[in-house]
Amino acid sequence: MEADKKSVVVRLSIVLTLFLSSGAYLAWALMGDASGGHNSDRPRNIDAKRAINGHTVKFKPDGKLTYAGIRAPYEDESFFEEAKARNDELVHGKELRLRFDGDPPEREDRVVAWAFDGDTLLNEVLVREGLAYVRLTAKQQRFGDRLLEAQLDAQSARRGLWGLEPPPLESQYSADPKYGNFHRPSCDEVRKINQTRIISLESREDAFHRGFAPCDRCRP
Ligand SMILES: [Zn+2]
Repeated sequence: MEADKKSVVVRLSIVLTLFLSSGAYLAWALMGDASGGHNSDRPRNIDAKRAINGHTVKFKPDGKLTYAGIRAPYEDESFFEEAKARNDELVHGKELRLRFDGDPPEREDRVVAWAFDGDTLLNEVLVREGLAYVRLTAKQQRFGDRLLEAQLDAQSARRGLWGLEPPPLESQYSADPKYGNFHRPSCDEVRKINQTRIISLESREDAFHRGFAPCDRCRP
């Protein structure tokens, strides 16, 4: 009896070993990857009402959408009005499809998402037109590569806010990967960041290429 039990255990472990090392396991693992890892494939549709600014939108009946992965100029920054007007043109009265990093948020009326009109990723359009900075936060990464490529395109064409005169430069900047911002070393905000996660950067270019947006207080 003991011997029988042992041989069953041995056979089971052989089967398990074969499965783990076989194509079946590989295919299963790859399938998980192809579906986007932690990204949700349960999109949600919304009826957009109007743009609030270049990166937020009101939708029916009482919702507010914030675009993932970008930030448009704030009210006291250049190109605020242009970004708002363009965003309104993109969304006004349209049905948009939202995709998420991770599962769809529990609250249906306050969402951060990647917004599609048909196949067009609106987050990307605003970046490509030089009306928003890429801002990749710890939780907003899904279409980051597309945004960074669009931003390079806008920069090289000096489109929109990339045509502005750059502010006085620093020899070093501090970036916060959790919120996707970068700062001048003297900015008060830097002291509030957990030191273990601060990334030191030598240039604005480096910050933009890595998906950090300028802090709206120290304006680096
Ligand atoms: Zn700052």
